[in-house]
Amino acid sequence: MSELTITKSELQEKDAIYNEVIPAGKGWMYDLKPGQIFRLVDLEGNQAVDTTFFSTEDPRDHYSATMTINSQHNIYLTTGTLLRAESGNPLLKITADTCGRHDTLGGACSPQSNTVRYAHEKIHMHACRDTFMYHMAQYKGNYNYSKRDLAPNINFFMNVPVTPEGDLDFADGISAPGRYVEMTAIVPATVLISNCPQLNNPCNAYNPTPVRVLVWNK
Ligand SMILES: [Zn+2]
Repeated sequence: MSELTITKSELQEKDAIYNEVIPAGKGWMYDLKPGQIFRLVDLEGNQAVDTTFFSTEDPRDHYSATMTINSQHNIYLTTGTLLRAESGNPLLKITADTCGRHDTLGGACSPQSNTVRYAHEKIHMHACRDTFMYHMAQYKGNYNYSKRDLAPNINFFMNVPVTPEGDLDFADGISAPGRYVEMTAIVPATVLISNCPQLNNPCNAYNPTPVRVLVWNK
């Protein structure tokens, strides 16, 4: 594995304007204002936090893995990464990271991917796509989210190395309890999280765990 860059934050938990725990298997949707800083903490280590972003003002302009990867010429996300929308406009910038690397290729688990990756009887298991849909349906803002707004996502804390043959390897995690990633909103940005309920994948040691979300004003 290539060298990982660790960047700590100066922000103190006591100064946060928002501080909540998302239990394993649950989700979260939140509108960030420009300049607000958002931190995700992997409380017990090696949790996969499926996260996507939307321009709050025009949610059809959603997070794009392709634009994000192309513009930085790197498939892994860490400090300095600009999280870009489909239009190419940056939505947020990763400004601290004590894990060092995050995946944006693996996608979110769905009942369908569970049947392909694991076994047909897994179709009934709770998956990230269900959590995304649930929170989009509950959203109180100025837009009616629907299935067509489900787009590429980031798997924070998830280790998906690309092999020399170009395959994706869902590997054991590289995160640890208390590691975090922090990002600053550049424009009004809506965050949508599914704290992955997956029980079939070694990336979270087959054990989904809670994460903490914090928000600071600049
Ligand atoms: Zn998942």
